[in-house]
Amino acid sequence: MSENNNVWQMTLERLDATMDLLNLTPGIRKYLRQPRKILEVAVTTKMDNGDIDIFTGYRIQHNTNRGPGKGGIRYHQDVTRDEIKALALLMTLKCTVVGIPFGGAKGGIAVDPKKLSLKELENMTRRYTFEIINNIGPETDILAPDVGTNSQVMAWIMDTYSIDKGHAVPGVVTGKPIELGGSLGREYATSLGCVYTILSTLKVKEIDTTNLSVVVQGYGNAGYHCARILYDMGFKIIAVSDSQGAILNKKGLDPYKVLSHKDRTKSVKGYKGAEDISAKKLLTLDCDILIPAALENQITEDNAADIKASIVAEAANAPTTPKGEEILVKNNVFVIPDTLCNAGGVTVSYFEWVQGNLSYFWSEREVKLKLRDIMDKAFYEVYKVAEDRKVDMRTAAGLLAVERVAQAIKLRGIYP
Ligand code: NAD
Repeated sequence: MSENNNVWQMTLERLDATMDLLNLTPGIRKYLRQPRKILEVAVTTKMDNGDIDIFTGYRIQHNTNRGPGKGGIRYHQDVTRDEIKALALLMTLKCTVVGIPFGGAKGGIAVDPKKLSLKELENMTRRYTFEIINNIGPETDILAPDVGTNSQVMAWIMDTYSIDKGHAVPGVVTGKPIELGGSLGREYATSLGCVYTILSTLKVKEIDTTNLSVVVQGYGNAGYHCARILYDMGFKIIAVSDSQGAILNKKGLDPYKVLSHKDRTKSVKGYKGAEDISAKKLLTLDCDILIPAALENQITEDNAADIKASIVAEAANAPTTPKGEEILVKNNVFVIPDTLCNAGGVTVSYFEWVQGNLSYFWSEREVKLKLRDIMDKAFYEVYKVAEDRKVDMRTAAGLLAVERVAQAIKLRGIYP
């Protein structure tokens, strides 16, 4: 029978497996399996044709024991309550793995943003913000960009929230434009963090970094910047893809030129310096490092055995299913799990929140140095648990995070 691809069920399955290795009470186990708050809202939106449309929106806080909820907002046609629950839980683990004082949250709207005009996108974003306004804020739950959203969307959310409060409240979102208190380096922080974890992996595995080839799935914020940063460091980017198609050039692609092509044509497909290949083939290409940077459920029991990369760096959230991972681990593929690999984004979001709260802004160099400190420390902590307990990196990251969150719950106690 084919693997159930409900990302919430898979996330719970992984959480359960991690909790089985820890000495937790049944009550704490229940607590961690249950999101703290689930909001589902009707996002009534004025459309350009004068009529209205209604989209379903969510904001879910999984856990807020270690600090305010923190997590992105996704605009995608396949958004569901279960997907957002899973991503909120992953945010709890992620913030804890890198040791930043936030809980886990996530939000989204089931909509294809490409089908909306700019004005409709703004109307929808403002109405969504209004619908969840009493449940978000710099001390309660802080929003950020994710698939289908960007710094402009964050600016609209900040403005709507600020109008309601009567003064500017930049801390309600991160990933803002620099002019509104955004942090230098936030735009590419997820990818830079991912690259730092790849560099640490190469170091512990004693792999020579010259001539390594890289394949990137997804050419949005996370995927493009991963390709660009690694290319600038001398890695060979041989293939990339987006939702429209995939391209390959075994001699190497120039990510900057691929981006210009995508900006012009809306896809990487048809890029002159490469051949078009199928999206399916991309994942199983002969390469050293595979970076899934698109959506969930990409590496599954159906294709995992054909993956030839020796390192899979999960820039995306939940791109590998549990059964897919079992096969990768059996084949000695080193998986850098999402909760560690893409935590650079939320780490610099944390820097943005700190800078905004202090009204004191750091240089790009300072941001990068602080990010590297946090990512390297987290990598080696997770790696040590993996080595000591003879488990894979995802289980190790989960063990670290669940133990820390469970400890925070115990220390705070249950009210009343
Ligand atoms: P984005 O919207 O900027 O880009 C998504 C990219 O994936 C687009 O190029 C899209 O065309 C492509 N895509 C969609 N479906 C695809 C498919 N089936 N095959 C190939 N490509 C496909 O989103 P993003 O912010 O880059 O997010 C990508 C992933 O990274 C998501 O899983 C997200 O949760 C994760 N992530 C992002 C951040 C961040 O700071 N942006 C932080 C942590 C994790």
